[in-house]
Amino acid sequence: MQLSIPYLTTEQIIDVFNVTPTATAIHVGEDAFIQIANDAMLSIWGKSRDAVINRSLEDALPELKGQPFIDMFKRVWNEGITFSGSDTPADLKIDGILKTFYFDFEYRPIKNTEGKTICILHTAVDVTDRVVNKEKLKDAAEKELALRREQGLNEELAATNEELAASNEQLMIMNEELAYARENLSLLNNELESRVAERVKELSDSEERLLQAIDTAKMGTWRIEAETLHLSVSDFVKELLGLPLDKEAEVKQILEAIHPDYHGTVLKAIEKGLQNHEPSDIEYPIRNLKTGAVKWVKATGRIFTDHEDKPSEYSGLFMDITERKLEELRKNDFIGMVSHELKTPLTALNGFVQVLQHKADKSEDSFSTSALGKAYNQIKKMTGMINGFLNVSRLESGKLQIEKKNFDLETLFAEIVEDAGMLQSSHKIHFHIDKQVQLHADRDKIGNVLSNLINNAIKYSPGGGNIDINCTSVNDQLVCRVKDYGIGIRAEDQEKLFDRYYRVEGNDTISGFGIGLYLCAEIIRGHRGNIWVDSEPGKGSSFYFSLPID
Ligand code: ADP
Repeated sequence: MQLSIPYLTTEQIIDVFNVTPTATAIHVGEDAFIQIANDAMLSIWGKSRDAVINRSLEDALPELKGQPFIDMFKRVWNEGITFSGSDTPADLKIDGILKTFYFDFEYRPIKNTEGKTICILHTAVDVTDRVVNKEKLKDAAEKELALRREQGLNEELAATNEELAASNEQLMIMNEELAYARENLSLLNNELESRVAERVKELSDSEERLLQAIDTAKMGTWRIEAETLHLSVSDFVKELLGLPLDKEAEVKQILEAIHPDYHGTVLKAIEKGLQNHEPSDIEYPIRNLKTGAVKWVKATGRIFTDHEDKPSEYSGLFMDITERKLEELRKNDFIGMVSHELKTPLTALNGFVQVLQHKADKSEDSFSTSALGKAYNQIKKMTGMINGFLNVSRLESGKLQIEKKNFDLETLFAEIVEDAGMLQSSHKIHFHIDKQVQLHADRDKIGNVLSNLINNAIKYSPGGGNIDINCTSVNDQLVCRVKDYGIGIRAEDQEKLFDRYYRVEGNDTISGFGIGLYLCAEIIRGHRGNIWVDSEPGKGSSFYFSLPID
């Protein structure tokens, strides 16, 4: 049985085609003449069927000019390729208004059996809503992101703000502390200022008091500025020297008032003070330039430094010591006189003892010989002491004369060493001289120096032992050394040993008056020589003196 199939007419097919929901059109030729377009396509284009059928695409939809679609059609027609796209924007004029729509589209060439394109099947789906929604979603997402970012930023900002507030608070606290510290500082400053003011007042008060005291104690002051060497003295000094009170004191006038014998001493003390910063303490006679009255003065001086420790001035006190000095001179005269008076009977006694010794020797009276020997030693000791006092008194009154003559040093020293050796047997004295020396000096006084040094070496080596005397001559200098191995002398005492009446503390059990070394030094200096000591406590001492060989 054969079924009869009802065929649709072309019109019927076209009607069906017209109502298919997918927008479809068929184009022919390069310019995409619109052969047929269904309702859906016409609705996309916003045109009536009559307005588009049998017209080129550009003619039907002039708004497509400048958009890529007309060219695409050309290529589909000419090259036989398919173009498709999704979410592709196209600007179409609907009801006279140009609007952007989005399409998923395809331009497909429909070819005959020979492969030639006979038409282009154009399908399109309007996806504008989808795209717009997507855009909206994207926008919303972006906005959300932006919002989030903003929120994040806001949070960060808030955190930063908080931090800022915290640091602000800290800053405020610090500011407060600073203000407090500043206040404290200014309080401290005030306190300091008032203390300094107090101290300055105290200082100026005490300076005034000091000046008053100086004035009351009959003292004057003097000063030499370290930089300018400008000399100024107080009124007391001017009065004492007989200088005009209303004028500055002149160096020339001051020197005129000082006894000429002391000019060298005074100038040397000032020079040493300013150059070597050595303190000075000197006594000298002056003659008042107005009245002619002679007085003794004592001037002390020392260097003073400024706040940077730089020497600012050499200054000190100036005292009238006439009374004390005259008293001393009287005492000296008395000692000199007594010593002189004692010398005569002592010389006589010495003579008698020697005569008796001679007699006792002859009669072989050993007891008398020994007793008289001891008496002789004591007389020698006493003579030495009396000579010492006599010499000091002469020295003080400027009467110690150096009487020079030529003599052989070795002979003199040998005599003294022998004498000293005879006086005691506890020590062994060794004497050595490197060559014969003829000295032009005061024989007795140089002898006194050596015997003083030997006596001290014996006295201050209580355990006995050796005493080495050594004399060498180098060029025109003679240097002698007296070395002992006794108690020695501490460094701080060494520099004062040659001062008058100086005795080292703690040696009180050993008799003495502290004048021996003073005399030695004066005698050696009187010969333009030098005297010095080198000693170590417990190990012994070496006393040296040097003399020029004229
Ligand atoms: P003194 O009569 O006291 O001996 P000096 O002027 O001769 O007087 O000596 C002064 C001081 O020096 C002494 O008191 C003594 O302390 C010290 N001295 C002198 N010579 C020696 C010496 N060889 N060893 C140790 N000390 C000495």
